[in-house]
Amino acid sequence: MNHISRRRLIQLGLLTPLAPSPFYRQPTSLAACVDGKCSNPTQITASTPTSDIPLITNFIWPIVGAPNNDLYKVGDAFGPRLISKKYSWHEGIDIKAEEGTDVIACCSGFVRISADCDERYLNSGKIIQIECYKYDDNNNIQHYRVNYHHLSQRLVRPGDIIRQGTVIGKSGCTGAAWAHLHLEIRRNNIPQNPYSYLAGSLPKNHTVTIQNIINTNGMLQVDSCVTSPWTKLDINRIKVLALDSNNKELDSMYVDFNANHNCGRISSSNDVSYTYTESLIKQVTIKPYDFSTNHSEWRVNFNFSGLSSSNATKIKVEALDCSNQIAEDTKTI
Ligand SMILES: [Zn+2]
Repeated sequence: MNHISRRRLIQLGLLTPLAPSPFYRQPTSLAACVDGKCSNPTQITASTPTSDIPLITNFIWPIVGAPNNDLYKVGDAFGPRLISKKYSWHEGIDIKAEEGTDVIACCSGFVRISADCDERYLNSGKIIQIECYKYDDNNNIQHYRVNYHHLSQRLVRPGDIIRQGTVIGKSGCTGAAWAHLHLEIRRNNIPQNPYSYLAGSLPKNHTVTIQNIINTNGMLQVDSCVTSPWTKLDINRIKVLALDSNNKELDSMYVDFNANHNCGRISSSNDVSYTYTESLIKQVTIKPYDFSTNHSEWRVNFNFSGLSSSNATKIKVEALDCSNQIAEDTKTI
């Protein structure tokens, strides 16, 4: 297995030297459910891996048997949702798991955080974060952080080098209302849809529908609805295009879930939707339907406004999933 040294990572700007951890809290066996407040925050961050770090080629599911075993199903997917009638952005996926279930490392790497809670991550409960490194398609090393929240036990310490598949903790419900593992995969610290990295075939199962096109004074407003089975939300990008009669693109806008472009990640706490203003003219509003485990579908309205309509005769909306499969709808203006 390939390794990379700490010195090389610092040279590449991928590892920022930080003050070493002042102390380390031993794991406790008592799990406190519904501990929403981070009452004793321990911002433990290790920057000193104890030896060279193994590079990875892939990620694996953090619970053996997930997600196809009914005991370890994904109970809540990545992205925009309404919780208690408020807009929020889920930065990971929730994997159902009874308290005490083994949680294994998705990747080899070093333990950056192991703490009873970390107020940088809302309602994390007992948290482990593992930093790992992977070559991308262009042979550049990308750095990832994988977060495991709501644990009942932590079995690793900051700075430890961990092999993929090692048991690092036990699942629980600290900081949560139900027993599950909240998993985040962050690239350059931006949360990614974990479905992009975890194995498992995901057939194209989403749809997109243009619901309304309003043409006012040379500006277009396009209302569309994207639907996906909510346990398999694997949408990456919603794009709307204004086309001429020869299908030439005249104008376009998009929302990208895995980057910061219009993604709606900044939530407004009392509102049911999120509006991003791209320019004086262009806006995108993201409005999820009420989220409930009783629903079989995840449904979000995307309202794009400010597209130029001069010479446009058609509107196309595309929804790309994690494997770049596209669902689309086209309407004539
Ligand atoms: Zn979660």
